[in-house]
Amino acid sequence: MSDCLFCKIIAGDIPSQKVYEDDNMLAFKDIRPSAPVHILLIPKKHIASLQDLSADDADLMGKLMLAVPKIAADNGLSNGFKTQINTGVGGGQEVFHLHIHIMGRPA
Ligand code: AMP
Ligand code: ZN
Repeated sequence: MSDCLFCKIIAGDIPSQKVYEDDNMLAFKDIRPSAPVHILLIPKKHIASLQDLSADDADLMGKLMLAVPKIAADNGLSNGFKTQINTGVGGGQEVFHLHIHIMGRPA
């Protein structure tokens, strides 16, 4: 998606503070953090929101969820953290590339 902000971050066209990357996903620091640690985890595949998932995405979404606690622990949140996925206009979603907010305060 050429006009998608997070696809541009994946492509390296817009800078980000990466904290994790593999073939399927990228995690980077939120530019306007609402917690001492605030990371966004996104699939490299452009999926607009949870409302746009298909059955083919089940394995990818499982990989993302398994990565959440590892990325959290690597960033000081081994004591616990909050996750949030804003979905659709009614859910307050501003960037329409599916992302998981990982937020917390290091213990
Ligand atoms: P949402 O409301 O769930 O769509 O959240 C979008 C999030 O993306 C917000 O928390 C923004 O602060 C964050 N954000 C927007 N632009 C950037 C950027 N260039 N780099 C990192 N985070 C961003
Ligand atoms: Zn995208």
